[in-house]
Amino acid sequence: MTAKPRLLFATTNKGKLRELRELVGDAVEVVSLADLPPVPEPVEDGATFEENAVKKARAYADATGLPTLADDSGLCVDALGGEPGVHSARYAPGDDRARYEKLLGALAGVPDDKRTASFRCALALVRPGGEARVEVGRCEGRIGHAPRGTHGFGYDPVFILSDRDRSMAELTPEEKAAVSHRGAAFRKMRPHLLGL
Ligand code: IMP
Repeated sequence: MTAKPRLLFATTNKGKLRELRELVGDAVEVVSLADLPPVPEPVEDGATFEENAVKKARAYADATGLPTLADDSGLCVDALGGEPGVHSARYAPGDDRARYEKLLGALAGVPDDKRTASFRCALALVRPGGEARVEVGRCEGRIGHAPRGTHGFGYDPVFILSDRDRSMAELTPEEKAAVSHRGAAFRKMRPHLLGL
């Protein structure tokens, strides 16, 4: 019997790890950063999600010798020229709530039709010493006027999906995976992961 290929998913987020394991099933052994000795964390200072995902995947692939998948994601708000974008995690000090409250404040007085936004995710797969393969996913919506729902994380309570009157935080994890930017990018990457 040949050994299963091993893939490092450069994350410590248990939700993302579970989602990836469900996607690749038994075909690939997925390990996370929590399963390996500590590796210095690369600085996410790229101008785009794609750049950051590739930088992260390459740094961990080179440090561990394992094919590595890395993601970078965030929320782009049209009325704010695409911000917070790659700065989503650091948009305001404190917790997720402080960040979405800052966003609601920045959009005070902006009418519904100008509150359009998208969640975006870039996934990069890098083999040690090899080229990067990048897949992206998007989820369209608009920013609400107050938080709704208790699921998810980050900006989910203030993101209203464009095709239904529900916030991302009102979806179950399964419903979110079916419509989210990350789910879309994962599904595009799946054939490349199964071909490792
Ligand atoms: P990272 O790619 O996990 O570092 O995420 C960057 C930041 O983007 C997070 O800290 C969140 O603020 C935001 N973000 C990314 N994906 C989501 C999502 O699915 N829901 C809500 N916020 C998200």
